[in-house]
Amino acid sequence: MFNSLISTIKRWHSKPKTSDAQELAGNVAKNSPKRSSSKTRRVVVPRNDHAISRRDISRAALTVMKRLQEAGFQAYIVGGGVRDLLLGGHPKDFDVATDATPEQAKQLFRGARIVGRRFRILHARIGREVIEVTTFRGHHSDGEEHEAQQSEHGMLLRDNVYGDLESDAVRRDFTVNALYYTTDGFEVHDYTGGMSDIEQRLIRMIGDPATRYKEDPVRMLRAVRFAAKLDFDIEPNTAAPLKELAPLLRNVAPARMFDEILKLLMSGHGVRTFELLHQHKLWPHLFPDNAAQLDNPEALELTRLALRNTDLRIRNDQRVTPAFLYAALLWPAINAEQQFLMDKGIPPVPALAQAAQKITNSQLTHTAIPKRFSIPMREIWDMQSRLPRRGGERAFRLMEHPRFRAAYDFLLLREESGEIPKGLGQWWTEFQQADEDGRTQMVRDVPRNGPKGKSRGRRNRGGRRRNPRSGNDES
Ligand code: ATP
Ligand code: MG
Repeated sequence: MFNSLISTIKRWHSKPKTSDAQELAGNVAKNSPKRSSSKTRRVVVPRNDHAISRRDISRAALTVMKRLQEAGFQAYIVGGGVRDLLLGGHPKDFDVATDATPEQAKQLFRGARIVGRRFRILHARIGREVIEVTTFRGHHSDGEEHEAQQSEHGMLLRDNVYGDLESDAVRRDFTVNALYYTTDGFEVHDYTGGMSDIEQRLIRMIGDPATRYKEDPVRMLRAVRFAAKLDFDIEPNTAAPLKELAPLLRNVAPARMFDEILKLLMSGHGVRTFELLHQHKLWPHLFPDNAAQLDNPEALELTRLALRNTDLRIRNDQRVTPAFLYAALLWPAINAEQQFLMDKGIPPVPALAQAAQKITNSQLTHTAIPKRFSIPMREIWDMQSRLPRRGGERAFRLMEHPRFRAAYDFLLLREESGEIPKGLGQWWTEFQQADEDGRTQMVRDVPRNGPKGKSRGRRNRGGRRRNPRSGNDES
């Protein structure tokens, strides 16, 4: 499928530029100081020259397009749907762009709702599917300032000026996300060179990258997300400003950051995404407390293992939760902070609680963590000091805890990363596999002096002090 796409794109590229279907519009952008390149060239790729078939498009998206077209409006599938179809993938959803205003479009779909303030979007419900319908966005001109607002950092706060397909295309983020497919003629419309960038496997910002990042710093994360997901390179001019502008991520609302982080790290490409975020110096602005620990090889390993685990589970259709991933990403900093507090004489259990509180609070200023994830995250941490204590009924009770499985997986990860020696994880593995008698025997046999869950963290090396979280604590 992919090879046939490349050959169709190549075929299309080699065609004379003067064909009927490839019209040079040469439109000069008006009133748009934000764009360095003021010319766009429309290229229309006819149905036989691209790999998209309407059979690959959801019935709901086709219905939305049809209804808009029948009412006299234009309607295109745009964004990830077109991009992923061209790459032979299965889009997770389809977005529709139209020249109908949200109010006009709303008339056509029973029960449709207009949502969003920053961008007003129509949610059209067809059967069980919700299709996002967006009105073509326009350039901002002087008379329309009330509809588009910018912050002191150049960030776009509102952007509800309507326009045509061309102005809509240049307001999108990357060229590969600005391809439009319509069932009215079955063509792909390309104003920004997206087809060629799909062929070259490049994430290229439309317009001046620095300006576009300042308008919306989340675009920095999106560049990395698409590069990792599609296995594309970030085009050099698009990558160049990332390092310098990374601090602008501070201006993004923590709730939006949390959503973006889930898309970055929990979509099956977490390891590669992390490497790219690290390479482009974005990571310290997402997880500063994790980033500060990464010169410790065990912390780096724990981070990579947690992400690899998440990627594998997604590939195997297993459940993943942000609680586990956040627990792992924040753990090295908590570990260090706990040790610091214990060195000041605070006992291990309150030291862990205080450390967890401090690091969680610090993370919350960067990304929100909804309660439904922060509570289990804390439970996973708490249970790390309970898993070594297996005497009497404790092991049986621990296994009934709703967070046992996650805490046990987390323990295995810590052992694998080298933070603590192996042994306790194996004990728990066998305990779960044993029958009732076997378990009773195992509890009786718990060695008084091990296996140890003793930390080998930097502060602990050289045997300065015994880590009270060790695996032999039977009290
Ligand atoms: P995914 O497969 O992850 O959904 P997508 O490309 O569809 O990828 P969305 O976040 O669903 O991404 O956005 C849909 C489209 O809206 C994008 O393809 C892009 O054209 C446009 N878009 C989204 N976010 C931005 C942004 N921050 N700046 C400019 N354009 C954006
Ligand atoms: Mg999408």
